[in-house]
Amino acid sequence: MIVVVGSLNVDIVVPVPHHPRPGETVLGGDHARHPGGKGANQAVAAVLMGALVAMVGRVGDDDEGEFLLGALEGTGVAIDDVLVSRDAPSGIALITVDAEGENAIVVSPGANARLTVSDVEGAAGLIERAEVVLLQLEVPLAAVERAVQLARGTVILNPAPAAQLPGALLDEVDVLVPNRGELELLSGGGGDVVASARRLRPGQVVVTLGARGAVVVSGDAAEEVPGHAVEAVDTTAAGDCFCGALAAGLDEGLGLAAAARRANAAAALSTTRRGAQPSLPTRVELDSFNMSPGERGSC
Ligand code: ADP
Repeated sequence: MIVVVGSLNVDIVVPVPHHPRPGETVLGGDHARHPGGKGANQAVAAVLMGALVAMVGRVGDDDEGEFLLGALEGTGVAIDDVLVSRDAPSGIALITVDAEGENAIVVSPGANARLTVSDVEGAAGLIERAEVVLLQLEVPLAAVERAVQLARGTVILNPAPAAQLPGALLDEVDVLVPNRGELELLSGGGGDVVASARRLRPGQVVVTLGARGAVVVSGDAAEEVPGHAVEAVDTTAAGDCFCGALAAGLDEGLGLAAAARRANAAAALSTTRRGAQPSLPTRVELDSFNMSPGERGSC
């Protein structure tokens, strides 16, 4: 079983001819409303791979909260430990997308920012029982740190959005999954990805590299996982898809490199579809993607 401690946001996406300047009003196209948030996206990615998944987080006592809980429950993620805040609205991401496909995003964390240490302790039994605990940084760091302390299974941390982290936290994580930018911030410099990952921590690091795929660094060993050649139309939630599928692979008992190969294929497939949660593939779709002629690699 996988427990995700993290964020739930409603994504409101509006196509615009250009992003507004301060004081300007821009008329956009029809908006779309999707369930999102890194925590919820990763939970859904994992459950669609066939894992048992439970979520720990917070939403507001509002329509958005109901929408988010309904969407999660609809995919089969257990939501008993998603608490409802009466004093804060649900988290929301206001996303404008211009004619070139460039995003501008404002996130209002709302209830996500109210997830406390005692909320996490309230789910202690669940977290202790989990084979895999999957975390990101869209909820308060104290909540993340408490979840890491309680976990007895494999702890995966996706350090996103990018932030400096205490060394003690990094030491307790089993698998760190940064993208290139997050790795550079945490390791304090650019240059060689494998060297940066080793400089950051001696344990296991999976660095995602966009269309190039990923690199799995485990002690002295490093393995490249080449990207799949796909027609990417929207890379929103590709990193979330990777993390959720990686967690599902480890939960199933795959080794880190095999789990990363599967996650890499799932994430590539997610880039061929629009949106965050609507783009996440099922296990059946992933298996047929891997079997389809012309695609590189297999899981
Ligand atoms: P993030 O979305 O967090 O910035 P990345 O851009 O590194 O993370 O993407 C995460 C994963 O998604 C990659 O490791 C890869 O598996 C997949 N991916 C992203 N973009 C592409 C692409 N254009 N083609 C194929 N796979 C992609």
